[in-house]
Amino acid sequence: MKAAVFEGNGKLVLTDRPQPKVMKPTDVLLRVQGVGICGTDLHILQVPPAHPARLGIIQGHEFTGEVVEVGSAAGEFSPGDQVIVDPHPGCGQCAQCRNGFPDQCITLIAASGEPGHPGTIGIFSDGGFATHVIVPFYGLYKLRKHVPTHLAALAEPLACVLHSVGKLGVKPGDSVVVLGAGPIGCLFTAVLRAAGASPLIVAEPSAYRREKAKQCGATRVVDPTKEDLAAIVREETGDGADVVVEAVGPLLVTAMHLARFAGTVLQFGHDELAEPKVPMKDIIKKELTIRGGFIGRYSFSRVARILESGALPLDVVVTHRMPLADVHKGLDLLRKQLALKVVIEP
Ligand SMILES: [Zn+2]
Ligand SMILES: [Zn+2]
Repeated sequence: MKAAVFEGNGKLVLTDRPQPKVMKPTDVLLRVQGVGICGTDLHILQVPPAHPARLGIIQGHEFTGEVVEVGSAAGEFSPGDQVIVDPHPGCGQCAQCRNGFPDQCITLIAASGEPGHPGTIGIFSDGGFATHVIVPFYGLYKLRKHVPTHLAALAEPLACVLHSVGKLGVKPGDSVVVLGAGPIGCLFTAVLRAAGASPLIVAEPSAYRREKAKQCGATRVVDPTKEDLAAIVREETGDGADVVVEAVGPLLVTAMHLARFAGTVLQFGHDELAEPKVPMKDIIKKELTIRGGFIGRYSFSRVARILESGALPLDVVVTHRMPLADVHKGLDLLRKQLALKVVIEP
């Protein structure tokens, strides 16, 4: 089968690989129907890399597919099922899994060989930039009715966003600011809009992305390089936003300034090198709540129901679909910020 393999030093090589086989009783063989290119894929392919990955693996961790073959102990799955994939399925047996943190699974982190990194499929083992992939059944969630496969490919980032939104407790009428309108910022916007956030202000320098944010439900979009974001947030909310979602990376301090007294800031943007100088008095005197959010946990079943409902404008987020042979074209579009989410259809 054709596969895109990480060969180090920024190289992703299209090559032939033997089709994987069901080996373990828990294995499920999937035919990949859609796989998103993630910002993390770009980080892996940076020189020097901004995210670790195992040499020689097939990349692609945001994928959906159809079950082709199942092992002897593969739960409720059978050939023909359309499934979404949790690419870091906890083992269910280690202390972290049993304490409710499957994304911190000790077995999975040991499998990555990188402290603190779960052994994500498509980063530390063969993933979805290929026609077929093996996933343990406990990383799969069935779609009960057909969902367009390019939209089902958003399941993993959507799971991350849902998990974090769940921590915020946003109620209808809560004012929210989202910093950044990349694919993640747009998914936050769509989910928060559905949760009733209003006003829902999105700050983003790119005009292309601001337009996407509007289509995802932003009540106002702001170009923070040309407009006074803080003044606009005050004008729209009175005394600052109830919730500020940082979906860029280094903007925690900006997010803190935009929050109201006793407001909540979610740091989701992931820049491992960022070390912002944090004004302590803002946390203390404004009684801010600052939360972190990382990968999706226990949210894939809800993601499946959301995908089936068609309730979110996910077709706004998927801007490009292309065959595996064009994966480099997709990567280039993302590097030049000419696409939001590129979905490869192997
Ligand atoms: Zn991703
Ligand atoms: Zn575990």
